[in-house]
Amino acid sequence: MDIVVAPNPILRQVCEPCEVGDKGLKKLAKEMAKAMYANNGVGLAAPQVGVLKRLIVVDCDVESEKKNPIVLVNPEIVEQSEESSIEGEGCLSCPGISVPIERSLWVKVSFYDLDGNACTVEADGLWARCFQHEIDHLDGKTLFESAGPVDRLQALQDYETALASGAKPGETDVRVR
Ligand SMILES: [Zn+2]
Repeated sequence: MDIVVAPNPILRQVCEPCEVGDKGLKKLAKEMAKAMYANNGVGLAAPQVGVLKRLIVVDCDVESEKKNPIVLVNPEIVEQSEESSIEGEGCLSCPGISVPIERSLWVKVSFYDLDGNACTVEADGLWARCFQHEIDHLDGKTLFESAGPVDRLQALQDYETALASGAKPGETDVRVR
């Protein structure tokens, strides 16, 4: 699976909900996880492989040898901390750049697993940041849309330079997807 790279308009679309329990999602999730690991990402959203469905794959456990991705079908942030932090984020769809983004420190996410079971997960640290980043993708938001106005201008400039120098997915300072 190839990674869709900005400014491809696919990345700006709002994705449709998945049919919960759809057997076809297992194959999609498996291929997405493969693409994520192949590009040294810690998360990937379906639109990043050209599929406009609300499905994300996340694995921030970069230390572990075992590949154990979490697949979230129709994920939704149901609670989040008011406390936030600004940190540099990368994205496989915006190769070569890192953009400061403000995110909640803690989130609670509801979702369905691949068997159609309703689940929730609570996360902080990199996991919380990654969930917020991936769910933004499902609403057509990339790093450029999630950044503040000043950082956005800088990011667009940096991105032009990065593309001109041939940056590939996975090349960034901080790898959040
Ligand atoms: Zn991304």
